[in-house]
Amino acid sequence: PMPVLAVVGRPNVGKSTLVNRIIGRREAVVEDKPGVTRDRVQYEATWNGRRFRLVDTGGWEIDVFGLDAMVAAQAELGIQTSDAVLFVVDATVGATDTDEALVKLIRKSGKPVVLCANKVDGLSGEADAAMLWSLGLGEPYPVSALHGRGSGDLLDAILDKL
Ligand code: GDP
Ligand code: MG
Repeated sequence: PMPVLAVVGRPNVGKSTLVNRIIGRREAVVEDKPGVTRDRVQYEATWNGRRFRLVDTGGWEIDVFGLDAMVAAQAELGIQTSDAVLFVVDATVGATDTDEALVKLIRKSGKPVVLCANKVDGLSGEADAAMLWSLGLGEPYPVSALHGRGSGDLLDAILDKL
């Protein structure tokens, strides 16, 4: 069966934009408001001739106990059913308490993880990305999901974990 990559992160960090970038289509719903992805969550992607399944965990509606609980529940479900985790952080914001909570979930799972420092649209954002070494998940890959910057290196790193 195809390996599964769970895309995990707070609302608005750019998960859906990144999924669109990786699958090369405009299918995942992208909105400016947090938590608005409401359509498909499973996608098929190919990179360097290898196929894998992507799960956008922001696509699940489990908004019962408030935002943080929702994010955690989505992440936990996604991580459980995945072979590897793509953890997306907004590098322009930096690591928040919610991000730290997600790191704990990911660590607990023991699943391999790739850290995406998103919204690094230009060279000046590289320093923001480097700050995310502090999360302890290894190398932060600076990416602009919006413009495609860094997405090739990110995909290479993902395939190494799948
Ligand atoms: P999600 O909630 O994590 O799925 O985030 P979305 O993909 O819906 O994106 C949230 C907002 O961030 C949208 O306005 C996107 O256009 C914007 N965004 C996503 N990726 C980037 C990026 O690489 N650079 C910038 N500048 N904006 C981005
Ligand atoms: Mg989304």
